[in-house]
Amino acid sequence: MTHCDIDNLIHDEALRLGFSACGFASVEDVDARVYTHWQRWIEQGKHADMQYMERHCDIRRNPQGLLPQARTVISVALNYSPPEMLPREHPQFARYAYGEDYHTIMRDLLQQLVQFIQSLSPCDCRICCDTAPIFERYWATKAGIGFIGRNSQLIIPHQGSYFFIGEILTTLALTPSTPLNINCGSCRRCIDACPMSAIADDGSIDARRCISCQTIENRGELPKTVTEQLGRRIYGCDTCQEVCPHNRHTQPTAIKRLFPLPQLKELSYDRLKNLSKEEFDTIFRHSAVKRAKYAGLMRNWSALNPELFE
Ligand code: SF4
Ligand code: SF4
Repeated sequence: MTHCDIDNLIHDEALRLGFSACGFASVEDVDARVYTHWQRWIEQGKHADMQYMERHCDIRRNPQGLLPQARTVISVALNYSPPEMLPREHPQFARYAYGEDYHTIMRDLLQQLVQFIQSLSPCDCRICCDTAPIFERYWATKAGIGFIGRNSQLIIPHQGSYFFIGEILTTLALTPSTPLNINCGSCRRCIDACPMSAIADDGSIDARRCISCQTIENRGELPKTVTEQLGRRIYGCDTCQEVCPHNRHTQPTAIKRLFPLPQLKELSYDRLKNLSKEEFDTIFRHSAVKRAKYAGLMRNWSALNPELFE
């Protein structure tokens, strides 16, 4: 079997499993410009309380820190755009959290892809999906599956940005894909639409201001500046993706495990008011929402303006 055959077989198997895009990048040091930009973001404290982001700089610089003989990053994207939205009159959750926890779904699919790869050629592989300190969106751009927008999301041309991204580091040497030569151009819609002015001109997000980060990662009180702009958002924020022209023609995901959980669709403002810890644990046991914890979700609920739900 030639290298080209293996490349094509892996790509086709990724699409057969349900991924929307798959590409390959050679493992090497991250571009100095990208790494320096990230260092400056950390130094400015824009990562808020996410101190874990300060660690494992060596792995961020080169993913061989995770798999020493790694030759290729296989990058994949999975569509999570829901086939139906939550009722507009209910508190709103970010789309990515409508269904089952993406970590589990991505791990299951990536493991199937690893088994397929190892059936083609013996190699070591390491799976990542928001579970390792690597620049996932950067590697996705190197693997040619999209570009990073000013809203800091990976944007796949003609498909949009409602995608989970994941990687397989492998000791196989696959043919690198060609990065796309595309960017946001003169568009600034996400910058203008962000209710917190959290997006800088250079596309970096200030997590201290971002509603998504604050409603999910903050373990203390929400800043008043955030609560004033919550609107109907109780978990996460999709505004900078909703306004992006690349999301005008998104297709709904075909992955049923990502469809809205039935119990989530029933969470009205009043229903949430009386949500017990036991009910939270039952509803969100297999959901990414459990990251906010019961206390965090109820804190967010109490910061909502009841008049918006009358
Ligand atoms: S998620 Fe919301 S608050 Fe955060 S940068 Fe995007 S629009 Fe702004
Ligand atoms: S809204 Fe415009 S500037 Fe923002 S990510 Fe989309 S294309 Fe880029």
